[in-house]
Amino acid sequence: MSTAILALKDEFPGIAGGWHYLDTAATAQKPQAVIDATVNALGRDYATVHRGVYARSAEMTLAFEAARRRTAAFLGGAEEEIVFTRGATEAINLVAQTWGVENLKAGDRILLSTLEHHSNIVPWQMLRERTGVAIDVCPLTADGRIDVDEAERILTPAHKLVALAHVSNVLGSVLDVRRAADLAHAAGALLLVDGCQAAPRIALDMAALDCDFYVFSAHKLYGPTGIGALWARKAILDAMPPWHGGGAMIDRVTFEKSTYAPAPQRFEAGTPMIVEALGMAAAMDWLSGIGLARAEQHERDLAARLRAELGKRNDVTLFGPEDSVGIVSFALDGVHPHDLGTILDEEGVAIRAGHHCAQPLMDHLGVPATARASFGLYSDDNDIEALLKGIERTRRIFG
Ligand code: PMP
Repeated sequence: MSTAILALKDEFPGIAGGWHYLDTAATAQKPQAVIDATVNALGRDYATVHRGVYARSAEMTLAFEAARRRTAAFLGGAEEEIVFTRGATEAINLVAQTWGVENLKAGDRILLSTLEHHSNIVPWQMLRERTGVAIDVCPLTADGRIDVDEAERILTPAHKLVALAHVSNVLGSVLDVRRAADLAHAAGALLLVDGCQAAPRIALDMAALDCDFYVFSAHKLYGPTGIGALWARKAILDAMPPWHGGGAMIDRVTFEKSTYAPAPQRFEAGTPMIVEALGMAAAMDWLSGIGLARAEQHERDLAARLRAELGKRNDVTLFGPEDSVGIVSFALDGVHPHDLGTILDEEGVAIRAGHHCAQPLMDHLGVPATARASFGLYSDDNDIEALLKGIERTRRIFG
């Protein structure tokens, strides 16, 4: 039973009044520290970056670049390896449309997995339309992990990229990134990791993971919407062509020709997400202050507790492995997840019901949708109890 971090609820105005918010995998509520940092960046401290000759702008530029260093430290990477993007989705599209277009051609192959979020499927399909690259899909183990043994069997020298989720947004299953990186590299491929659900829950160290690209969104790690990052090895970023053209990404512009800034600025056209970057850095400070080891334990404990409780019911099907982190998908016999979600809402319990932007995974599970409860650092046993009570009430209504 998790009682480790119960005192945090008070820091989150978004769940004041006892709302049982169990949709953190969609987006996390924000601690007051992040709200304050964002309000100050937008108010008291606001100015543009990289351009102004006045002191406020110079200060904001320092704060903005400090946010890049903060992000690098959070990931265990270097600041030149951090590209600010609008989020994970944009980061994957950036890699597909720059690295992918430059390096992949007909005859090459990409390996994804059955459990990927649409944002780690559709950009590669769009790349397939442009380049003729083929896409293979790594199956899952019976309990809902990416089957890395199968990946080893599938990979050939034709594979140039493997792109996998670190933590499944539906099943909470955790990928052994280091093993996936070793297998990809042995085949001569690069590894892109979708870290959206891992970044808030698992301590990250790019050197130890040994992947080549890592992407995440700040709004899932207690930061603001509209920002995230792409981490990529410096040598890879340096060799990638620019993507969006405009201000801030250039070295020199004439009508005959433009030359480009080095990475990461080459990939950040236009006025950047100044406020969002400072908010993201504050979120990383806040989360690191709690400690990622504690966060992971908390999320594993809550998922295990909920799985154990739901496992006692003979009218519930649980999806995903026993050791999932922070995310539990399930079905209540004879009740559509949307109906369950609606009744739970009346009880002040917010879960997600739907395909979770993972329709191929729903096809694999043989369901149109699942009910998903997902935890954050503010979640506690009371939230689980409220969910179980709501499920019981739903059972009584549906018979
Ligand atoms: N990948 C995973 C595993 C996710 O959970 C999400 C968000 N649900 C995304 C990618 C996309 O993130 P965003 O919408 O913030 O770009």
